Amino acid sequence: MSKNTTVGFLGLGHMGGPMAANLVKAGYEVLAFDPVPAAQEQARTDGATVVATAAEAVSASDIVITMLPNGRIVLDLYTEVLSAAKPGTLFVDCSTIDVADAKQAAELAAAAGHRALDAPVSGGVAGAAAGTLTFMVGGADADFATALPLLEVMGGKVVHCGGAGVGQAAKICNNMLLGISMIGLSEAIVLGEKLGLTHEKFFDVVSTASGQSWALTSYCPVPGPVPTSPANNDYKPGFATALMTKDLGLAASALAANGVDGQIGTLAAEIYTRFNQDEAGKDFSAIVTDIRKRSEGETK
Ligand code: NAD
Repeated sequence: MSKNTTVGFLGLGHMGGPMAANLVKAGYEVLAFDPVPAAQEQARTDGATVVATAAEAVSASDIVITMLPNGRIVLDLYTEVLSAAKPGTLFVDCSTIDVADAKQAAELAAAAGHRALDAPVSGGVAGAAAGTLTFMVGGADADFATALPLLEVMGGKVVHCGGAGVGQAAKICNNMLLGISMIGLSEAIVLGEKLGLTHEKFFDVVSTASGQSWALTSYCPVPGPVPTSPANNDYKPGFATALMTKDLGLAASALAANGVDGQIGTLAAEIYTRFNQDEAGKDFSAIVTDIRKRSEGETK
């Protein structure tokens, strides 16, 4: 893709806004659409050309990127705009959605004479702003090669994981493991508290022992050992509980749909769904506070 490529960008929220801004900074012409006026205003300030409808953005673009809340919205939008696109337009969906929805989106695009990739991300809002996201991509080799220069503008690491839907598979497998490990770590920390083990000593031992995990060494759910972790900032996200709950829900349905005996993944989804009812806006590592409360008998 040369910098003469016109990019349609649909969904300019917390993630899409800064991702589109990075494409503009790199010299791409960006035709942007989002129904929310504040998002439109920010995109204009960032140098994108804001258009009145999604179809208008799509019709003049060579490649279309979507960054939307969920699979239903992605499929509805594809259904709405595919007929407006030039033949062979490449659609790249960066939203986190169900694997089955991602496959359906790719089929819809192909049936309309277009090309499609699923390319969900990790790295959060900070990674979107800094252009250091990790992209997990599913789709054909040639389409991956076409999208790569753009993804490299928005990301620090781009992995071609396999065919359609396999990018989403990588995303939900990783986040299921992260949710499980944060719950397990938090249970161990609260057990340690009950047994008289300080957080500092817990960290000293476990961070270099066989219980070590990214959740502990980079994102410690209690204040102190890792100064940059959200626990030191009253659990301000970071990665909000609402988003972890969404991703674990996708993982739990994929476990069920594929006949996997995923008891811990399913339970992790249930635990976060309950926590999400009251604390959706807190960082997901605040689950340790819920486990602590429930261990004191303060259950609902
Ligand atoms: P967001 O709610 O901030 O942004 C979504 C945007 O999509 C909104 O601005 C909304 O107005 C817009 N939108 C809705 N319907 C639309 C339509 N028909 N056409 C065009 N725009 C439309 O959400 P976000 O935090 O930016 O997340 C976007 C996606 O990225 C989600 O799938 C999320 O799971 C995933 N994700 C988020 C994070 C994160 O840290 N926020 C990290 C990784 C992945």
